[in-house]
Amino acid sequence: MNAEIIAVGSELLLGQITNTNAQFLSQQLAEIGINVYYHTVVGDNGNRVLDAIKEAEKRADLLIFTGGLGPTKDDLTKEVIASHIGRPLVYNEEALKSIENYFIRTKRPMTPNNKKQALVMEESLVLPNDHGMAPGMMVKGENHCYILFPGPPREMQPMFTQYAKPALLDVLEKVEKIESRVLRFFGIGESALETEVEDLLLAQQNPTIAPLAGDGEVTLRITAKHESEETALQMIKEAEEKILRRVGDYFYGYNDTTIARELAERLKETSHTLAAAESLTGGLFQSEMTAVPGASTFFNGGIVCYSNQAKEKLVNVKKETLTSHGAISEECALELAENVRQLLDADFGISFTGVAGPDEAEGQPPGTVWIGLASKYKQPKAFKLDLAGSRAGIRKRSVKYACHYLLAE
Ligand code: ATP
Ligand code: MG
Repeated sequence: MNAEIIAVGSELLLGQITNTNAQFLSQQLAEIGINVYYHTVVGDNGNRVLDAIKEAEKRADLLIFTGGLGPTKDDLTKEVIASHIGRPLVYNEEALKSIENYFIRTKRPMTPNNKKQALVMEESLVLPNDHGMAPGMMVKGENHCYILFPGPPREMQPMFTQYAKPALLDVLEKVEKIESRVLRFFGIGESALETEVEDLLLAQQNPTIAPLAGDGEVTLRITAKHESEETALQMIKEAEEKILRRVGDYFYGYNDTTIARELAERLKETSHTLAAAESLTGGLFQSEMTAVPGASTFFNGGIVCYSNQAKEKLVNVKKETLTSHGAISEECALELAENVRQLLDADFGISFTGVAGPDEAEGQPPGTVWIGLASKYKQPKAFKLDLAGSRAGIRKRSVKYACHYLLAE
């Protein structure tokens, strides 16, 4: 919820008084978590007050007025708002009594315009004035809430603290909190994932679950609404658990993380190190890894070995492997991964070799990719992918697959 404070009074514009009401209210609203984006000051002029109201309605949910609730002709805040939102003014019995009592107490004659101060908007919450005559009020319009305070700080401040603040806190509590969380998946297509959770998607109302695919990844956004933030978060947690029970194998992280970042975090946590030999991806994987702060703790380094000559000379791939199986082969991927792991004394070695396109290579179509994975603890293995898409897309997705395989280790 955000608020605009509108101080009405020509004395403010003439510099005769300082707008301490806006200062007080801003401090108070900040304390209860209501954002104030604008302070407006406007003179005692009906048209300009109306302009200020219309402007404020475009940018705030809550419009708070001070000043112009008095008995004189230039006090017109209440009248302008009432006619703007089409709410009749009616006498408030309590306010009327307290005004009459005031005149009895002070032995002064009560004039008709004093009675005017007891007028409040129909269906408003009246805020009693314990230090003066004009009551304040809180009114709910169609899309906005309006709170009217008298100008004198000695009347306005206790009225806020005693009556308006508790009412605002009550409203804030009833406002539905919207919480959401994005679950990120890799290694499963959008339709495959949707099939797995189809009944959850169909049954959904609150929380809602929205799938989105892009860049070879699928995300599910869970959104829950509830008066209590805690309950909304609990609803999200329950939906998440149901989803992960089915497709947890492909889940890698929350919200705006990336799979490369998740891999980096995992390596840091487990104190494992990594080395890479990249043909197809030409350093893209290493670039992703080193983009993570503190990469030196887990990333030992890598080699870009684009030509066969580089694979032989820099990563010790056997000539025979290249001549009998080709560079785009399981054998080559395995050697690259294991050799770079040993060369750089890492726990894991990863390698990329394949055809990014647009033309075929070694008689293999674009999108043919081998990813080798070597480990200090296990036999090396290689994964074959048949990817579709552009050259850039194939290279980018190969990097993500490598992260996915390493995360599964
Ligand atoms: P009254 O019944 O006293 O006329 P009102 O609600 O009509 O109250 P105004 O006539 O606008 O209020 O202002 C009355 C006095 O309140 C001003 O002369 C000034 O001393 C004080 N006041 C008004 N607005 C502010 C403000 N924004 N900040 C500080 N003081 C203010
Ligand atoms: Mg006045």
